[in-house]
Amino acid sequence: MKFESKVIHAGVHPDPSTGAIMTPIYQTSTYVQKSPGDHQGFEYARTQNPTRKALQENLAALEVGKYGVCFGSGLAAMDAVLQLLDPGDEIVATNDLYGGSHRLITKVHGRYGLKGKFIDMSKASAVAKRIGKKTKMVWIETPTNPMLNIVDIAAVSKAAKSKGAIVVVDNTFASPYLQNPLALGADIVIHSATKYLGGHSDVVLGAVIVNKKGLADKLYFTQNAVGAIPGPQDCFLVLRGIKTLHVRVERACKNAKKVAKYLERHPKVGNVYYPGFKTHPGYEIAKKQMRDFGGMVSFDLVEDKFIVAQKVLSNTQMFALAESLGGVESLIGHPASMTHASIPKKERLKVGLTDSLMRLSVGIEHVDDLIADLEKALTEI
Ligand SMILES: *Cc1c(COP(=O)(O)O)cnc(C)c1O
Repeated sequence: MKFESKVIHAGVHPDPSTGAIMTPIYQTSTYVQKSPGDHQGFEYARTQNPTRKALQENLAALEVGKYGVCFGSGLAAMDAVLQLLDPGDEIVATNDLYGGSHRLITKVHGRYGLKGKFIDMSKASAVAKRIGKKTKMVWIETPTNPMLNIVDIAAVSKAAKSKGAIVVVDNTFASPYLQNPLALGADIVIHSATKYLGGHSDVVLGAVIVNKKGLADKLYFTQNAVGAIPGPQDCFLVLRGIKTLHVRVERACKNAKKVAKYLERHPKVGNVYYPGFKTHPGYEIAKKQMRDFGGMVSFDLVEDKFIVAQKVLSNTQMFALAESLGGVESLIGHPASMTHASIPKKERLKVGLTDSLMRLSVGIEHVDDLIADLEKALTEI
């Protein structure tokens, strides 16, 4: 089945009791058994829920995996993956990791003896040298946030596997429509379904997708033993959002390309970070491992000052000033004061995260309106 059909049909079957074409929200905590053990595979709703099951099967199909495991948020999904590790193990991760993932590795799992090593992964050959005997997991994010660097998933996976480490890819920024890490050699894919998968900024949910039964069994165990599960209503919302994933992401990519080109020509704009530019250092890899270049664009100003950026941030109207990404509506954010505020200035300047850097999550509105909104905001500074 092609991707565009899978989003609509995979894991979804007409409701057996009514024929309802949409998977019902099974809002129940338990299931009646005829006699002890005589049930239809559902005993208690932390362990199993039909709405969640449909979503898990759908997500597995989209990521060309066998097993999907859903959690109450992207971070809960990541926590379950980190629980595959033991005290003393080392994890090697992308250095410009999503802030919450960095916090989870260092401040939560760090307390239980996990060692985090954060490195620049833009050159795959350099990654191999940083993987040691104690490295049990390699954690990739690509494109990265907010600099939109690209990591070569196939090359890093090969290097990690030669040392026996498990490869995890946080595929939130690309979405399964643009990139399928399992097919490129990764072992585990993680999503914050809060973003492109849900797509309508109305739900928080996370997912893990794997191919190996051994990994799936451990993740299902954690899902049930720890209990950080999503509710059936949230599963329904993501399942519903996914039905238009390909259409939304395709439009977001088209709009982002035009917005990036517009910004590149603007005299008040400094650097524009967008992997679809031929001058972007990750362009060739992005072209190889992604279907398109995504809906995210970052840029800074020639007059690189926070107060100038602040004017842009409060002057845009269609681009709403908010954290998050991947929804139908366009958002603008300021990493230095919002998502990356905890990183020391010297550190963030090293990777290009300047005082005026702004990150756009380009939505699916008409691109002329989006460009007019930026034009007005930039004129007023
Ligand atoms: C938002 C996000 C997360 C965290 O997901 P939540 O659903 O907010 O818990 C993890 N990784 C990336 C890349 C994200 O953008």
